[in-house]
Amino acid sequence: MTIHTQQFDNSLFNGSVSVNTNLFIDGEFVDPLERHDIEVTDPTTGRVITTIAAGGKKDIDRAIEAARTTWGKNVSGTQRSHLLFKLGELMEKHSDELAALETLDSGKHYIHVKTADPAQTISDLKYYAGWADKLGGKTIETDPTKFVYTIHEPIGVVGVITPWNFPLLLACRKLGPALATGNCVVLKPSEVAPLGTLKLAELIQEAGFPPGVVNIVPGLGSVAGQALAEHPDVGTIAFTGSTLTGRKIMQSSGNSNLKRITLELGGKTPNIIFDDADIEQAVKWTDIGLFFHAGQMCTAGTRIYIQEGVYDKVMEQLVAAAKASANPGTGFDLTPQLDPVVSQTQLDRLLGYISSGKDQGAKIAVGGGRLGKEGYFIEPTLFTDVKPDMKIVKEEIFGPVGVVIKFKIEEEVLRAANDSAYGLSACIYTKDVDRAARFVSALETRSVRVNITSIAFSQVSSGGYKQSGFGKDLGEYALEDYTSVKAVTINHGQKL
Ligand code: NAD
Repeated sequence: MTIHTQQFDNSLFNGSVSVNTNLFIDGEFVDPLERHDIEVTDPTTGRVITTIAAGGKKDIDRAIEAARTTWGKNVSGTQRSHLLFKLGELMEKHSDELAALETLDSGKHYIHVKTADPAQTISDLKYYAGWADKLGGKTIETDPTKFVYTIHEPIGVVGVITPWNFPLLLACRKLGPALATGNCVVLKPSEVAPLGTLKLAELIQEAGFPPGVVNIVPGLGSVAGQALAEHPDVGTIAFTGSTLTGRKIMQSSGNSNLKRITLELGGKTPNIIFDDADIEQAVKWTDIGLFFHAGQMCTAGTRIYIQEGVYDKVMEQLVAAAKASANPGTGFDLTPQLDPVVSQTQLDRLLGYISSGKDQGAKIAVGGGRLGKEGYFIEPTLFTDVKPDMKIVKEEIFGPVGVVIKFKIEEEVLRAANDSAYGLSACIYTKDVDRAARFVSALETRSVRVNITSIAFSQVSSGGYKQSGFGKDLGEYALEDYTSVKAVTINHGQKL
């Protein structure tokens, strides 16, 4: 059994954090059947900090076997609720360590993780703990000789596959509703940032979930992820990640048992600032909406549309804010600095997008290069003079790179905002309530935010339109993705 321990001696996190880096299957930490390791890197330095065990196909098989329990049908909603609450409480107790681990492998600054991720994760888990004993079907009136009702049943084994940008948070958004509704889970976290999710395995064990109810098997997407998506005993895959991988998961489902899938995929959020907006606020929200966590957010406001009357003023402030935040730092600096992008692969990908923008004739208003020699830092970057068919306008970049477009009238910006393969989220800034209502209705995105950037609440369901996927995270609606509805008809009068 391999345990990674990291010692800290700074004033943000003083002490040590340890995490078991083996696979968590059937309630125990175990070695993979065939030993493969994956290196985990600190993105602020580019140095390897530890290795973790990588699960292969046979490990996924045994995790699924362990998860094929009838737990959900044999425990009460009240018991499931208690377990989820207990897990939330343990996360609260260990939130410093969880935050430190998320910082170590994702590069997101400790203060930002600490103030947002565990807190939001705990809120999400407790929200679904609250639902676990309030689920039920309906009685349906048909004819007087029949008693007809529905039962909401667990689907069975839920495969959860998560990305690296908010690893723990996104894993628990799936675990909460999956467990509340009585399913068992095999979770494959991203191989790039698995440490926080491995710590979660320890807390699941401590909370007292029976063996097999939650299994956590890190591994490569093309190996462990694909094996999970193709397995005939998995009832549904709850996936968050890129649109490219989403397509592969859909194929895996089609090629195996036609399992249900939910896909939370990429985005290209339009961020529209009208002349009448509160400009100071609009600029602040736009800045964090694009550059927070180095732009590695599915809802990052990467297409910034500014109405002509305020264009110069907004641009001046956005450029100043981008320049001011261009300070690389470690994840444990006393004040938050610019976050790195997560890996060398992402760094190279992003520099490729920046080159393509320049090659296709866009102009750089600010940024445009790598920062420092160590770690994976990219300057907060804004392009102007862009055309709708440029790669930097059409494709999800997933880094601190945005495009800025001037517009005159509503029709023009609405057409441009909707001219996208994605439909995840949109933000608009205006004081005109009628205009806000018109845009809420006309924008082809699953979420619309008015006078604020993307923000999540446990109670509010999110998801995508178009190629941003389908399915629901959070809120009551998400429960539907983890249940099958059985219809029962009892004849108490009709004779033949
Ligand atoms: P990714 O698609 O590369 O990987 C996501 C997960 O899928 C990882 O665990 C990976 O190992 C696994 N995977 C890869 N190939 C697989 C395969 N063939 N079969 C099964 N699993 C496979 O995404 P990423 O780079 O980790 O994350 C960034 C992406 O996630 C961005 O596109 C971003 O927009 C998206 N995202 C979406 C949301 C949302 O809620 N819509 C939230 C966060 C991130």
